[in-house]
Amino acid sequence: MTEGLLTVAYIAASVLFILALGGLSHQETARRGNIYGIIGMVIALVATILGSQVASYGIVAVCMLIGATIGFIVAARVQMTAMPELVAILHSFVGLAAVLVGFANYLDPTMHFTGVDKTIHDIEIYLGVLIGAVTFTGSVIAFGKLNASITSKPIFLPARHWLNLGLGLVCIWMGMVFVGADTAASGMVPLIIMTLVAFAFGVHMVMAIGGADMPVVISMLNSYSGWAAAATGFMLSNDLLIVAGALVGSSGAILSYIMCRAMNRQFLAVIAGGFGAAEGTVVKQEGGEQREAVATSAEETAQLLKDSKSVVIVPGYGMAVAQAQHPVYEITKKLQDQGVNVRFAIHPVAGRMPGHMNVLLAEAKVPYDVVLEMDEINDDLPQTDVVLVIGANDIVNPDAQDDPASPIAGMPVLEVWKADTVIVMKRSMAAGYAGVGNPLFFKENTLMLFGDAKASVNDMLAGLAD
Ligand code: NDP
Repeated sequence: MTEGLLTVAYIAASVLFILALGGLSHQETARRGNIYGIIGMVIALVATILGSQVASYGIVAVCMLIGATIGFIVAARVQMTAMPELVAILHSFVGLAAVLVGFANYLDPTMHFTGVDKTIHDIEIYLGVLIGAVTFTGSVIAFGKLNASITSKPIFLPARHWLNLGLGLVCIWMGMVFVGADTAASGMVPLIIMTLVAFAFGVHMVMAIGGADMPVVISMLNSYSGWAAAATGFMLSNDLLIVAGALVGSSGAILSYIMCRAMNRQFLAVIAGGFGAAEGTVVKQEGGEQREAVATSAEETAQLLKDSKSVVIVPGYGMAVAQAQHPVYEITKKLQDQGVNVRFAIHPVAGRMPGHMNVLLAEAKVPYDVVLEMDEINDDLPQTDVVLVIGANDIVNPDAQDDPASPIAGMPVLEVWKADTVIVMKRSMAAGYAGVGNPLFFKENTLMLFGDAKASVNDMLAGLAD
């Protein structure tokens, strides 16, 4: 492929990536956005493979076959609830790739740079490896926290801020030694030391972050993986990789900002860690006896819904686990047929990844006009007859507003307790992802419907049919 054709292909792919991001920002256009992204990626891959830098098609073909087969099997098998873990581990691959490409590029005997060019190239390599290494280990720890093989509680080392400062200073010092090195052999020592330090920093940073802050961490690692790819693009002088990496990096940064706003948190406070650091699931009550939680049945709930004029459904992570979205939509249609105003209330961090609930509801074909964001619906909750909380917990915890000592104090929540009646559907009295007890379960107007959400919703459907 000629250089001119390659440039045209890269520009076309870049435009398609931008259109993809634009499409993905609205539910109605998300499918189209995905298609643009797929076409852009196919063009990018084909153009790169046909480019002059590829010397052996055999190796590329074997690697692509192995990678594509693994990717296909994993994507076909992954459960919707495991998507966040998959995304985290894919971020780690981007980070590791940046580290490996950085080392390979530094050791490449065909690369000859002198003077300022050498300094710039060395800085590109150093930054690419640094960001890649932090992204790699940070994402592996995020993967562990999301699939519950590592506790979601923050884990701190003593004097952790000093430790982080120390690690940062070592990286700067090694960077100066690396850029000043005359030979590849003398540059390898600081590069390897920095890589090990950056690996340790990635682990230390994400370990210290509490469950409730994980949404910000995921979008932050997403952003890092983009910048790692962009740095790799600079190393390889590949314009498309620079553009695509910068798009991922900046959109991830914007998403981190949106998530911080949704959690009412400062970005630096998230990095400092500790939010959602609850040790237990005890619910504190100011004075007086704690009310017993009151259980209800699916039949009673169905009757309550039939007698209502307005119902708000709050889906959470448990709805994803139970895969209850399809029967939930059946209930919605039944109630709408009976003249009940049914709407969905979506908290920005419900589930385990940004937009998790929107994806599930779209899969069940729930019309977008009845799906409202937290800010759009919170004011309507006092005029709502019944709120059905399906497998949600942290996002409806009143302690976020009422208890300044709560580990999730200040996080905006759906004020479901203001409705006439709240039905909380979950399997037990267990805490949510942040590990914090929830006083909502003990309120006067709350009834608990215990059991798997899908089974309960199906029982309610039967009750509605009677
Ligand atoms: P939570 O994790 O707070 O609560 C989910 C609840 O669902 C649990 O209390 C559980 O209770 C219940 N549940 C689980 N399985 C079932 C089932 N099969 N049937 C019925 N209930 C079930 O979820 P929320 O959506 O309320 O809040 C999201 C949390 O995740 C927040 O803390 C957020 O910060 C965090 N997070 C969000 C991310 C994002 O990007 N959205 C990313 C990472 C973390 P029980 O076991 O008793 O059934």
